[in-house]
Amino acid sequence: MTELLGPTKGYCACNCGLFGTLRKRPEGHIRGCNCPKCRGKRNRQKGDSKARQARKALGITGVNSRHEEVWGGDVRVEVKAGAQVKPVVTAFLRCEIQSEQHRPIGDNRPFMLVVMPDGSKDGFVVMRLADYVRHHGIEPV
Ligand SMILES: [Zn+2]
Ligand SMILES: [Zn+2]
Repeated sequence: MTELLGPTKGYCACNCGLFGTLRKRPEGHIRGCNCPKCRGKRNRQKGDSKARQARKALGITGVNSRHEEVWGGDVRVEVKAGAQVKPVVTAFLRCEIQSEQHRPIGDNRPFMLVVMPDGSKDGFVVMRLADYVRHHGIEPV
């Protein structure tokens, strides 16, 4: 019946020295703890919130799940965030600036980056989400 007693205070379970209200998940850790478990949880929450933002912008309805493959819609969407996407972002921004420098006045079409890797006839498309949804007339949900 301890859960009826309300939040209990104590030292963080990972011995990081933080004192405060003990959380349920990760069990016995304190807000602000920087151990791998707590960092992992924060990163998942951040990823989930980014995925939610992207899903709304794309007008994707369906099950609100961490697993983007069950979102529904006509494409399988995988939303990635954080350090792992930095190289893509950097490449995109560099190319966008280049394109901007050569953009004729009055050409207001959205910018799309297409990358063609060596040894492949297929390529990859990267666009700003805002441009993509505007271009396709997608209504946010
Ligand atoms: Zn801790
Ligand atoms: Zn922790």
